[in-house]
Amino acid sequence: MSAKITAIRGMNDILPVAIKDAPVTTKDWQAVEQVLRQLMQQYGYQEIRLPIVETTPLFKRAIGEVTDIVEKEMYTFEDRGGDSLTLRPEGTAGCVRACLEHSLTYNQTQRLWYAGPMFRYERPQKGRYRQFHQFGVETFGMKGADIEAELILMTARLWKMLGLTDVVSLELNSLGELPARQAYRAALVDYLTQHLDQLDEDSKRRLTTNPLRVLDSKDPKTQAVLVNAPTLADYLDDESRQHMQTLTAVLTAAGVKYTLNPRLVRGLDYYNKTVFEWVTSALGSQGTVCAGGRYDGLVTQLGGQATPAVGFAIGLERLVLLLDTLKGQGQLSSDSDIYLLADETAVQQALLVAETLRNSLTNYRIVTHCGGGSFKSQMKKADKTGAVVALILGQDELVQQTITVKWLQKGEQLSLPQAELSSYLQSSLGASA
Ligand code: ATP
Ligand code: MG
Repeated sequence: MSAKITAIRGMNDILPVAIKDAPVTTKDWQAVEQVLRQLMQQYGYQEIRLPIVETTPLFKRAIGEVTDIVEKEMYTFEDRGGDSLTLRPEGTAGCVRACLEHSLTYNQTQRLWYAGPMFRYERPQKGRYRQFHQFGVETFGMKGADIEAELILMTARLWKMLGLTDVVSLELNSLGELPARQAYRAALVDYLTQHLDQLDEDSKRRLTTNPLRVLDSKDPKTQAVLVNAPTLADYLDDESRQHMQTLTAVLTAAGVKYTLNPRLVRGLDYYNKTVFEWVTSALGSQGTVCAGGRYDGLVTQLGGQATPAVGFAIGLERLVLLLDTLKGQGQLSSDSDIYLLADETAVQQALLVAETLRNSLTNYRIVTHCGGGSFKSQMKKADKTGAVVALILGQDELVQQTITVKWLQKGEQLSLPQAELSSYLQSSLGASA
């Protein structure tokens, strides 16, 4: 026997039914996707669809050589023409590339969103995968704090729509502008160098390559050293300070709670001013559900004219897992509303009746039992799909042009002329909804 071929580790199938290894179903995903689409519509954001593969230099330039992503997480390969390509590890780089390529940010503002798979070679665990999905928003051309406020209010609304307000919290920080960050970096390196022997290996390495990232360290000994480290807040420029005040004033007025976290950083030079994260304690250590910030330097870094930009990305696996953890599975567990049963003489008529019903009952899921079997086994299947009503066509019904209607939850049964079925169901389903 030949060996079984399985999916790649850390790249998951999403199934229509919940099983032990894949508890989150396509229905759970669709429910979240629908809410996200509605949210984007409410705020007047437009969808952009981007390639999953880009040239490798795009990510090296946009994300930076001394980052976890570029150093060790990218899926990079040579194509048959000898070009180095990479499966996108995030969406911002491709989005900026597309905007520049098609002049979308030239003298105009943009509010864009995208959703889709991203790829990172990481150690797979709960909430961390090699193929995962992000929902991302990127805005261009707006330099005031009002756009950050809009993005944060938008995410706060999303949690409300999903019933998650109580389990997520907002952390905010300002990274200031480059000179402030450089002054801070020097002070931080100075301080950490005095405590070198207490730092973990990764942090020692980062001290020379990307010192701000040391603030991210999860190592307890390094964290202890960081307690007394200088903070970025003390080095901020006045404009960045004012920007943060404008933002927090809106959040306070809108009733959105936040915590200022001076350790919240991004290790990339193009980030400036606002960074924010929505975190939860309900998912173990993979607690960041949404991460965002201002990145006014990226467009120039990729060869465009200076363009202010702010965006965020939500890790959809973490969001769906969070919903699943809190609400349990099977909220939307039914697979049909109306289920048609037919004996072998009535198969054709059942298909035709279903087609007619779909013309008028456009919002209902109408499933025809295919594949034969006794009425008893067909009825079992109808129950299993969670249908509200079963429609039965046998030889008698065929001759009399009637149909038997069985309300599965109430157990009521009646017979109707087939011609009256649509209007009968329309009024009774409407009434029972
Ligand atoms: P982390 O610190 O958890 O590694 P990150 O800083 O690498 O996160 P970002 O690049 O900011 O993450 O991506 C935005 C969001 O995408 C994260 O907050 C998270 O929700 C999600 N995410 C990132 N990497 C993964 C992954 N490997 N699997 C699932 N979700 C992920
Ligand atoms: Mg990461």
